[in-house]
Amino acid sequence: MNIKPEEITSIIKKEIERYESNIKTVDSGTIIQIGDGIARVYGLDDCMQGELLQFPNDVYGMALNLEQDNVGCVLLGSEEGIKEGDIVKRTDKIVEVPVGDAIIGRVIDSLGTPIDGKGPIKCEENRAIEVPAPTIIQRSSVNEPMQTGIKAIDSMIPIGRGQRELIIGDRQTGKTAIGIDTIINQKGKDVICIYVAIGQKQSTVAHIYNTLSEEGAMDYTIIVSSTAADSAPLQYLAPYAGCTIGEYFMNKGKDVLVIYDDLSKHAVAYRTMSLLLRRPPGREAYPGDVFYIHARLLERAAKLSPEYGGGSLTALPIIETLAGDVTAYIPTNVISITDGQIFLEADLFHSGQRPAVNAGISVSRVGGNAQIKAMKQVSGTLRLELAQYRELATFAQFGTDLDKDSKKRLEKGKRLIEILKQDQYEPMRIEKQVAIFYAAVNDFLSDIKVSDIRKFEQGFLEYMDTHQRDLLKRIVDEKTLTGEIKAGLEESIVYYKKVFLQEA
Ligand code: ATP
Ligand code: MG
Repeated sequence: MNIKPEEITSIIKKEIERYESNIKTVDSGTIIQIGDGIARVYGLDDCMQGELLQFPNDVYGMALNLEQDNVGCVLLGSEEGIKEGDIVKRTDKIVEVPVGDAIIGRVIDSLGTPIDGKGPIKCEENRAIEVPAPTIIQRSSVNEPMQTGIKAIDSMIPIGRGQRELIIGDRQTGKTAIGIDTIINQKGKDVICIYVAIGQKQSTVAHIYNTLSEEGAMDYTIIVSSTAADSAPLQYLAPYAGCTIGEYFMNKGKDVLVIYDDLSKHAVAYRTMSLLLRRPPGREAYPGDVFYIHARLLERAAKLSPEYGGGSLTALPIIETLAGDVTAYIPTNVISITDGQIFLEADLFHSGQRPAVNAGISVSRVGGNAQIKAMKQVSGTLRLELAQYRELATFAQFGTDLDKDSKKRLEKGKRLIEILKQDQYEPMRIEKQVAIFYAAVNDFLSDIKVSDIRKFEQGFLEYMDTHQRDLLKRIVDEKTLTGEIKAGLEESIVYYKKVFLQEA
């Protein structure tokens, strides 16, 4: 046989030209181990960190540990019926939540599924729950107040829009109450509120939902709920989901308030996940990156500059302490990330000083710039007077004879303390706060019995509401206490006091 080398090479060349690589990357893998809500999957070669994976039975999972020969994932649903050898598919998506106006007024879980029994939510788009925080260029400084309606906070620890202010205290000291009151106070102020419940009892969340509905606050509020019964990964994702929804509104130029209740439980959920994934434990058995999970969440709070729409996202994270110990790992971490903290004290709470804010050690590092001038004028000396009062009160306990000046200070302090008390679900408008503080700091209350102060306050503010509307309105409009407004306030206080003392 005659072999022609040219023919053979041309055939080989043709074959090479025709050759098509039809090798497809396999985008599915096999479960090699499953248990405790954690799965190890073999064969997901191009899997992304944080990618959503589809397991059998419509259960989703999230890839967290990308190791050499397998991927460690957490299941976001029940692992019942899922076994070794089952197929896991990639989705090419990072975990996301639906966002849109339709979500306002609803209660959803960490993945955006409605859980209030009011039907599906029609949203225009989905957003990844982990995105980088706004950059320096996009931000402007905090310059608008975010009023809580709580006298002790708005006067001495003012919060600004775009700020991160920590609420910290032992269990049952009124932490949640401050968050809820702040939401209620945003009524009619065009602020979207998001309450994120992390690892709480279902009954607590239901109670909060009912309260907000009754107060008419659900019209502008979203609840993202992951209860104690939910798996650790769902609890872990909840704050990021809430933040993403908030960012959607912030980017549209709106003002948003997000409450994370609470980040102690969030850290615990993350610790559970990490230990199950066999990541090395560090201090208090938390993984090394527990600081970072909170930092990247809270860094997403921002006040955007006008070129970027001027929206804002104010974050009020809550942390629970044990016996007031703020030096534990998680409290110190979050204190260092936020722009100030509101300390709530069990002792104050039990002695009837509610809200139990310890004004001496609470601070707000940026909100002062945003406080309206009228409030600054009345609250300027408040902190100082209270500090002096506390010092004198300790002295007075020993029955020491005090000079006239000290006695006067002591009496005034007692009255200021009374004014700072406030019931739950009764946020107060800023102009009313200014009016009553004006009376208190300018010694108008010295002839009213301490036990009558709260009654006087209530009556006086009712009187102002019915007879001095214009004056109150001027405080809001002019934002500063002019000589005329001051004269008007003094006249009203003197007049009402006469009526009050006659009645008494
Ligand atoms: P937990 O540690 O259980 O989350 P918490 O610190 O969030 O508790 P809250 O649930 O807000 O505390 O409040 C504890 C209790 O104190 C509740 O029964 C609440 O109604 C009451 N409370 C809170 N604030 C006030 C207030 N200003 N005046 C009167 N009662 C209040
Ligand atoms: Mg609480």
